[in-house]
Amino acid sequence: MSEGERLTELAKRRGFYFPSSSAYGGAAGFWTYGPQGAALKSNIEDAWRDRYVVKEGHQEISAPDVMPEPVFEASGHLDGFDDMIVECGECGATHRADHLVEDNTDIEEAESLPNEEVMDLIAEHGIECPSCHASLADQPVDNFNLMFETNIGPGSSSPGYLRPETAQGIFVEFPQLSEYARNQLPFGVAQIGKAYRNEISPRKSLVRVREFTQAELEHFIDPEEDEPPLAEVEDVVLPLYSAAAQESEDGGQRELTVREAVDEGVVESEWVAYYLGVSREWYERVGVDMDRFRYRQHLAGERAHYASDCWDAESEVDGDWIEITGFAYRGDYDLSKHAEHSGEDYTVFKQYDEPITVERATVDPDMSYLGPEFGGDAGAVADALEALAERNPDAFDDDEVTVEVDGESHTVPVEQTNFSVDEVTENGEHIRPHVVEPSFGVGRIIYTVLAHSYESDEVDGEERTYLDLPPEQAPTTVGVFPLMDKDGMADLATDIAEDLRAAGLSVTYDDSGAIGRRYRRQDEVGTPYCVTVDYESLEDGGAQRASESASGDEPRAGTVTVRERDTTEQKRLPIDGLADRLGRLATGDLTFDDL
Ligand code: AMP
Repeated sequence: MSEGERLTELAKRRGFYFPSSSAYGGAAGFWTYGPQGAALKSNIEDAWRDRYVVKEGHQEISAPDVMPEPVFEASGHLDGFDDMIVECGECGATHRADHLVEDNTDIEEAESLPNEEVMDLIAEHGIECPSCHASLADQPVDNFNLMFETNIGPGSSSPGYLRPETAQGIFVEFPQLSEYARNQLPFGVAQIGKAYRNEISPRKSLVRVREFTQAELEHFIDPEEDEPPLAEVEDVVLPLYSAAAQESEDGGQRELTVREAVDEGVVESEWVAYYLGVSREWYERVGVDMDRFRYRQHLAGERAHYASDCWDAESEVDGDWIEITGFAYRGDYDLSKHAEHSGEDYTVFKQYDEPITVERATVDPDMSYLGPEFGGDAGAVADALEALAERNPDAFDDDEVTVEVDGESHTVPVEQTNFSVDEVTENGEHIRPHVVEPSFGVGRIIYTVLAHSYESDEVDGEERTYLDLPPEQAPTTVGVFPLMDKDGMADLATDIAEDLRAAGLSVTYDDSGAIGRRYRRQDEVGTPYCVTVDYESLEDGGAQRASESASGDEPRAGTVTVRERDTTEQKRLPIDGLADRLGRLATGDLTFDDL
């Protein structure tokens, strides 16, 4: 069984995730997170929020999943958000053409090649339809837009789309969001939400799906002045696989610190380098194995339509590299496009330290002259004169000045324009911020973390499977078991489980089957600690406490065993203070050895 297959089997059996709507035959590319998966997902999202929103001091928003067509006309998605599709002439199945080339040749990034070249490669390598094995040679390779279209309201006059990335929900609202940030750059706006892409061939469970969760941060900066706090991460070591290394015969991955990567120009943007450093630490925190992780720079042909430089965080599973996050320097592309298409102001007013005095050429045309002279065009002529004065004041040096309106030339005596050059004081200027974007795919991170945490060993002569998830991410923090359901052990265990829940811990209570099997169940879902109530717990005072049915505040008599998942080591601990100890173990303030 491959690593991915083993994972999908465990995910379904233990309630991490499974294909959706299978009672009706299912729909490829849609997955339901079960109880364990939903808890893991929300823990990973919380860890993301903690690092990229709270610690960075950014704002978080929640925008709609459906947005009207003009948004995607402006963003470029309507025209450019395509994948390469090839249709089988025999059975009609459709496939991602670049992936077929990657699967059947040594070429790694076929996405960066033009369609014709991909078509030639399919013919040259005799690539067949994976569904019916007919030859795909000579089948056209076309562009397929990945957006899901819908109608807003009845009828079809108002098309809308499910957003293909959460980012547009931030860019579109920039004028409002900038106000909330008191128009002070730099500021960041984050969003965790659903994105939808009508993928041609969904595959590898959570890796390529049609509905997925993104966690995106748009950091708006003044490109002239703002610098990232690089010193905070300058010593973090980055495993970098640059575009140049990918293109050269003997090029490989290099380990450079954030500072070295910037100084050597391997990572061009300091902002991107900063986020590569921050994120390298974050991946480790959530359980990505750093020996199966790298940052890969996009090749020129692979870059998205908006990005000037782009690096992907990639994890290795089953020998394949999976993009888990894209880091893009998007420049002012998005804000310019929305300004151009909407006519709204997508700039920030930047105050100068000291006001400056500049010469400003202006006109104040005499409308009682322009009106009779140019009729319906008079207003447009006045506007054109104003624009010309700003652009080229020298044009007003002669007696007459000529402007064009709708391709027609109009000549006006300069004295009728009331042209003048005055000194004005300026307090600042409007600038268009640039954007740095780390864009995380939550599902792919979950897939990676599960694959990388999957371990097996031998316990009591039997093979055991467990997930060595960081306690902070584990769906359940503590499993609570009565050794047997008799003599008051279940009462005491129920009591303890309630106390632990009241202290904010995520607890599973399990009293079914042999104790060894209960430990294995928790091991398989990555529960870091298990608490067992046994006869000794009753004998050393716990029974009395259970029968008093927990008044709550008094010190607790009695002890329990606490077992650690990875080592299976057990310790006897007092019930009193248990919630506090387990809470500190889960956050890393305490180690099991300290107990
Ligand atoms: P992109 O905008 O293509 O750079 O995507 C940003 C992130 O979203 C990627 O790094 C992935 O983690 C995730 N992602 C993109 N497409 C999919 C998909 N079809 N299924 C799951 N995750 C995806």
